[in-house]
Amino acid sequence: MSEQVLSTPVKSPKTGSNGKVSHADTKWVYLFNEVDEAEAHVGNNWDDARALLGGKGANLGDMTRLGVPVPPGFTVTTEACNAYLKNDGFPEGMWEQELAAVREIEKLTGKKFGGTDNPLLVSCRSGAKFSMPGMMDTVLNIGLNDEIAETMVHLTNDRRFVFDLYRRLIQMFGSVVMGVPDEAFEVVITSRRKLAGVTSDSELKAADWEVITRRFKEIYRTFTRSDFPTDPFEQLRLATEAVFKSWNGRRAIDYRNAAGIAHDLGTAVNIQTMVYGNIGDNSATGVAMSRDAATGEDVPEGDFLVNAQGEDVVAGIRQTQPLEELKAVMPTVYDEFLTIADKLEKHYRNMQDMEFTIENGKLWLLQTRDGKRTAQAEVKIAVDMVEEGLINKEEAVWRVKPAQVDFFLHPQLDSVALKSARKIAAGLNVSPGAAVGMVAFDADTAERWAKEDGRKVIMVRPETKPDDVHGMLASQGILTSRGGRTSHAALVARQFGKPAVVGVTELEIDLDNRSMTIGEDIIVREGEWISLDGTRGVVYLGQVPTVVPDIKNPYLIKLLGWADEIRKIGVWANADYPRDAQRAREYGAQGIGLCRTEHMFFESVRLPIVQQMIMAKNVTERNEALEKLLPMQRGDFDGLFRAMDGQPVIIRLIDPPLHEFLPSYEELVQRLADLKVQLQHFHTLSEIDEALSEIRVKQAYLERVEGLREQNPMLGTRGVRLGILIPELTKMQVRAIFEAACQCQKDGIDVHPEVMIPLTFHVNELQVQQTTLEAVAKEVMEEQGVQIAYKFGTMIEIPRAALTADEIAGVAQFFSFGTNDLTQTTFGISRDDAEAGFLVEYQQRNILEENPFGTLDVPGVGKLMKMAVELGRATRPDLEVGICGEHGGDPKTIAFCHQIGLNYVSCSPFRVPIARLAAAHAALNDKKNN
Ligand code: PEP
Ligand code: MG
Repeated sequence: MSEQVLSTPVKSPKTGSNGKVSHADTKWVYLFNEVDEAEAHVGNNWDDARALLGGKGANLGDMTRLGVPVPPGFTVTTEACNAYLKNDGFPEGMWEQELAAVREIEKLTGKKFGGTDNPLLVSCRSGAKFSMPGMMDTVLNIGLNDEIAETMVHLTNDRRFVFDLYRRLIQMFGSVVMGVPDEAFEVVITSRRKLAGVTSDSELKAADWEVITRRFKEIYRTFTRSDFPTDPFEQLRLATEAVFKSWNGRRAIDYRNAAGIAHDLGTAVNIQTMVYGNIGDNSATGVAMSRDAATGEDVPEGDFLVNAQGEDVVAGIRQTQPLEELKAVMPTVYDEFLTIADKLEKHYRNMQDMEFTIENGKLWLLQTRDGKRTAQAEVKIAVDMVEEGLINKEEAVWRVKPAQVDFFLHPQLDSVALKSARKIAAGLNVSPGAAVGMVAFDADTAERWAKEDGRKVIMVRPETKPDDVHGMLASQGILTSRGGRTSHAALVARQFGKPAVVGVTELEIDLDNRSMTIGEDIIVREGEWISLDGTRGVVYLGQVPTVVPDIKNPYLIKLLGWADEIRKIGVWANADYPRDAQRAREYGAQGIGLCRTEHMFFESVRLPIVQQMIMAKNVTERNEALEKLLPMQRGDFDGLFRAMDGQPVIIRLIDPPLHEFLPSYEELVQRLADLKVQLQHFHTLSEIDEALSEIRVKQAYLERVEGLREQNPMLGTRGVRLGILIPELTKMQVRAIFEAACQCQKDGIDVHPEVMIPLTFHVNELQVQQTTLEAVAKEVMEEQGVQIAYKFGTMIEIPRAALTADEIAGVAQFFSFGTNDLTQTTFGISRDDAEAGFLVEYQQRNILEENPFGTLDVPGVGKLMKMAVELGRATRPDLEVGICGEHGGDPKTIAFCHQIGLNYVSCSPFRVPIARLAAAHAALNDKKNN
């Protein structure tokens, strides 16, 4: 999903001297062959031309200009739509221009709109600047009435064909323009099929369609209380208006909200000569992508149907044929199509999604646009296009969004678990990734379950329609029984990164009984779990475990390599263990920005020793425990240094309050009470002895826990304060760091340790702790006879530290923003409580736009960071500054960190690839804005 709202203002009409907007000389309508003029009108900027004509209209004009066979037509501009929506009526002069344009296409085609000799029929389609597949309305075959239908029968000698067109017009006009429920029409067709004893529409005869047409007119009359308009111009006028209005329909608004498209762009209306793919077996219609939209392979893919009309293909109602079969059916047309696809790809320097119709052996392109594709395909196509010389590396990097890389690394079904999983069906693998969820059979249920009950849902439908988008967005994945690779379900799933399997023909959905059956014996009821493998197109019963994939994809590796060449800010990783460091390095990290040393203390063999250290009654006892911990910590650091050979490793000294290492107060009180009760029931001396000794130990723990107890431990004795109060502990850690570093260096490893002191709020704290620890470092280096290049520094995670960063930088050689704590302390809220509590409501009520623990609060926390960088570098110009809070992997935060000149961002190893790309985007953004 895009991070910014997609918007481009369209130039507004002129304001007259009286302050009123004058439309008299506004050009509202452009013929496809006037695209040069439209471009000139907006200052020869193609992006603005797309805003004016909509993506589809602009491309139709552009294709016409390129010499691609496009049925003649014209575009009513988005300006006209906006003027219409503002004034609730066509703007002055628009309709007259539309009529004049109709006369122009009459000239180009030799046909006459509303004429009875050689009638011209047109389509009316929406087309906004940014593609919104299936979101807006279309009416086909405009221009037909009873009399013209008879003329057409005469001309084509095909009564069946003409009445099929006519009923489609009434059906689309009725549902799209007048709001008649589509089901009312579908019921008529279904019962006619039954009556005729056939199973598919293609078997219905001319007489059937004539009857259906008559019935459709009656339905139209019943629902609208008026007759179907017989005047073609009236049809055109109302259809134009309906497209304008559909911009503000619910599904369009939902889609725009989800895709981040601005609501004030408006849609253009494209009126175009109809060409027919359903005029016999020498005709066909199809949709195709110039490359494989799922894998990115440079092989055109698509679906077509012989003797069919366009919507039959996308609706997924009839089983389509794969594009390559067109080669056998119509070889010359197939070759011509491939040549055109190649020409369009080269022209737009992007993979194209094309609609075509073959009318009596003549190929027409109805539409082309940049094709929607999976994250995998996006990456592969971007890399391939650089290698083909179509785009440069910067453009390739820019095209792939960090969120897509995120998706790339999405979980897949666990291959081991799959061996015993029950595969229940297979279909088309149209959108990759794994999805596990409960079956929901309609969009509203899916949305309700997901949003209100927090359930994971898989939406299962025969096919999806634009009205289902809200359910699809709320679902983990999508499963349909019908439809091909270019079906609505496939397109939307790919765009939003939802795993999807479509066209599972053996799936029968019984909406009344809220269940689906596969074959004879598998029944899945609504609410039961299934798992989808969108990468392979397989459906499994139940919940299959998922795994996060490794990034071995050579295209991604190449693209991220280019991102590294572009980005200015470093990408490091937060890693505690050598295996995490190793993974971080494989993912492209250039250092460790945070090793939380206390994590190792929680390991089961170490915890008793840590507890022994905390419970020590005197220094000797404490030192005994620390002596045991020292080799363990040394081993931890040794592994990290070796994994990060040649790169910096920031090791943070112990941070959490000590009570976290002891059993909880409540637990101890409960256990003591239990033991005391049990004591009364023991009979043997050994039992009593054992219980008494446990009581003594627990009692001692309880006293210590009580002693350590604080009202607000997160704001209490932790971080640097601990180091000051128990210097032996941090001294042991520093000894372990330097002993490991010296040994590694002796072994030829290039070590760069950086010791980080947490939670400082005053320079004096740092002075005390750092002086003590530097002495240990020197001592170890002398003992070992080795000199190590090292740094001492601090985390900045308290506002006071940021505000006095100039003083702190006098001691610290580096800063690292701990934005988890810095956000807590700046907002004065506890992350643990807030995220699960009021923050959700704050976001719902728009009090906060985003969760400040996920995306950095730039105006507040960000301001402190910026100030700290400036103050710190005023004291120490070469001060190294980074970020290691969770925000370090968030693309928006990375852009901010780039802006304020941090040296690096540090994030979890899994987010390193996303961060590398986001950092490159930040640098490219600078370039674009300067
Ligand atoms: C932070 O506060 O941002 C940080 C990295 O430290 P921790 O999350 O361990 O408190
Ligand atoms: Mg912290």
